[in-house]
Amino acid sequence: MRNGHGDFNKQLLASLQGRNDKNAVHYILEQASLYFECDAATVYLLEEKSGRTIFPYKEFVRNSNIYPLSTLRRETILNLPSQEIFQLDASIYGEDAASYAMLLEQEEHQPLGALVLIHHTPFTPEDEEALRTITSCLNVYLSHLQSAKSDWNHRSYIEERIRRQQSDFMRLMKDARLTSIDLVPAFQMICESTAETLQVDRVAVWFFSEDRTTLECRALYDHPSKKFKNAQGLQKAHYPAYFSSLEENRSIVVEQTSDDFRVHELLEDYLAPLNIKALMDIPIISGGKTIGVLCCEHYDDSRNWSFDEEAFATSIGDMIAFINEHIKRRKAEKKAKELAYYDYLTHLPNRNALEEHLDTRMDQADGRSYFALIYLDIDGFTEMTERLGYRIGDQLLMAVTRRLKSALQKGEFISRLDYDGFAIVTNDTEVKNALYKRIHKYLESLKEPLMVDGQEFFITVSTGVVVFPEDGDSPATIVRNGHRANTEAKRLGRSMITFYRPSFDEYEFEQQWFHMDLAKALENEEFELYYQPQVHPFSKEVTGIEALVRWTHPEKGVIPPNEFIPLAEVTGLIVPLGKWILEKAVHQAIELDHQGMGDICVSVNISAIEFQHPEFLTHVKRVVYESGISPEKLRLEITETMAMDHEDYTIENLHHLQDLGVTVALDDFGTGYSSLKYLSLFPIQCLKIDRSFIRNVESNPKNGAIVQSIVDLAENLDLEVIAEGVETKEELRHLTAIGNQIIQGYYYSKPLPANELLSWIQSFQGE
Ligand code: C2E
Ligand code: CA
Ligand code: CA
Repeated sequence: MRNGHGDFNKQLLASLQGRNDKNAVHYILEQASLYFECDAATVYLLEEKSGRTIFPYKEFVRNSNIYPLSTLRRETILNLPSQEIFQLDASIYGEDAASYAMLLEQEEHQPLGALVLIHHTPFTPEDEEALRTITSCLNVYLSHLQSAKSDWNHRSYIEERIRRQQSDFMRLMKDARLTSIDLVPAFQMICESTAETLQVDRVAVWFFSEDRTTLECRALYDHPSKKFKNAQGLQKAHYPAYFSSLEENRSIVVEQTSDDFRVHELLEDYLAPLNIKALMDIPIISGGKTIGVLCCEHYDDSRNWSFDEEAFATSIGDMIAFINEHIKRRKAEKKAKELAYYDYLTHLPNRNALEEHLDTRMDQADGRSYFALIYLDIDGFTEMTERLGYRIGDQLLMAVTRRLKSALQKGEFISRLDYDGFAIVTNDTEVKNALYKRIHKYLESLKEPLMVDGQEFFITVSTGVVVFPEDGDSPATIVRNGHRANTEAKRLGRSMITFYRPSFDEYEFEQQWFHMDLAKALENEEFELYYQPQVHPFSKEVTGIEALVRWTHPEKGVIPPNEFIPLAEVTGLIVPLGKWILEKAVHQAIELDHQGMGDICVSVNISAIEFQHPEFLTHVKRVVYESGISPEKLRLEITETMAMDHEDYTIENLHHLQDLGVTVALDDFGTGYSSLKYLSLFPIQCLKIDRSFIRNVESNPKNGAIVQSIVDLAENLDLEVIAEGVETKEELRHLTAIGNQIIQGYYYSKPLPANELLSWIQSFQGE
């Protein structure tokens, strides 16, 4: 509020000096709405002519978007307490809207009407004194007006009503919800207000049916019973002359229904049973064509309609036409927009919408997180539709849409591209692993057969994956690369998953591999384990080795795990591959032991999908028992993120491993979000500080602080710490100064093939 109420009252009274009554009322409303910072201030008057519903007499509207056509019930006004602020139901103005009313009174407490304040969000007219000043001023000016009312003739009353109706319609027109709101209540209000203004018994709005053979009733108000009713449609076949006069006339004004040829046909079935003796039918004309009719009907007697009354009714008819036209245009705009952004069949967003979405996502990207575009395309879809017909094809597409949507997570975006292509944009994640999980979810959702037309269909899809930011920096590039990766997947056969690679651009297709290759690789024993030593920096003792898998491709040579583990996870191949790795690592460790390696613990990386596999524990147990390895010489590395994702399940599994005697390390520690509180819940024995914190630890104070706190924390929890990825002497020096950690990294050694490991250890420890 702008200033103290004393000031407001004084200023208001001063500026009212010399104004005429009407102008003063308007000015007071304006000041009230500004002072209380509300959307509208309205005066309702209990005029003689007004019926049960009271229309605003004057109002000041600051926010023209509030829902128009507001009325008050006569009882509401009569029940208002004197001199008190009364809260009204404001729900039609919006969910949180608030509205307050003050009773307006003449000198002997004769009710005059009400002042109503409305706002689309909660507010309170706290300054009651100002509100009282406003009401008492209004009382004075409105009493003047009321006593001068006798001078008002019917004509100025109707003019006033037309003006009111027009401003209501204008506001209705601006309402953004116009295309979605149900117009029946608006038409009902129009009927009611027309009946009140013209004092006629029955007012209805009728529209022609699409084929123009029937008039259908949209709203009907019966004045004597004060009820909204409905009426049966009228057939052109039964009343041809009436239908043509609607097409030909601007208005059909009938003083005596029994002897007017234009409505003669209606007499028997319609007018006589209802006892309609006079009527004014105003064709509603839009775009040069009659689209309906506004009917004002008078019971019992004939009636002479005045020119003003006809003019009023015609203006109402025009306004209805105007609304109709306006809505049609709005709907057309909406439709055009939908066509531009939505796919007609599945109603999914289309390529335009996808690119727009990608654009926003790229703007929001923080450089630390990833998201993927998963481009799915149904295998052999064209052949399928040629064989089965497009109808089945369309239904299949809709069924696929439903499945994919069911796998959709909040925030993810799905769209349809080309004919049988779908593109999904995943949520942002800071770990790529989460992306692969999402891809897997979508593929899973299509595994079960689809029911279409009472038949089961098994489909497979080819999948191309593009990761942002790596694989493209504009929406168009991302989509294009998704399409390329998908084309490549298709080229390789059914059910393939291909990650986009820049080499696609050079058409070096032979550079690609795919999951059939991985399966073959496992069969052909193309995998091999390398081992990286873990060293105690003071004693120079090798305390452990980490097994790191390599794929030696017959043509391409050694492929690092980061390039195929994600694929193995998505395709589920990680389970047999992981089994093989565990068995192999354990057997090689035993062999090293036989060769006199002594107290060395072998670490095996376990991916989330393996860890969650129902057979996982059984398999670990079997490997331990069958190989005869002492369980404490086997360590499993699980990532922090994975552990936190499935907390309860993880803890349970970890307890089983602990019972077995196998130890567990939390890998990549620091990159996830684990809270320290949770860490104490996990039965683990080791933390591996992620390489990113080790990098330049000696000169990067932030990394230094993080490592220091991890080391302190581990000490408190009695956990071993391994610093990963130590490359330089400076890093090593800094780390050894901070605390007692095991060191793993290129500084000591890169991962080595099993046959080189033994000699490396011997020479290192012999130094
Ligand atoms: P990781 O478990 O964090 O493994 C450590 C990675 O850091 C290894 O990469 C290792 O070669 C590399 N590294 C070690 N010291 C240094 C260093 O001083 N500087 C640099 N720049 N890098 C260093 P690698 O072998 O390429 O493995 C990458 C990731 O692939 C592993 O990260 C692990 O998540 C996964 N992985 C590797 N082998 C297996 C496996 O047998 N099973 C599973 N499930 N995942 C594996
Ligand atoms: Ca590891
Ligand atoms: Ca790691």
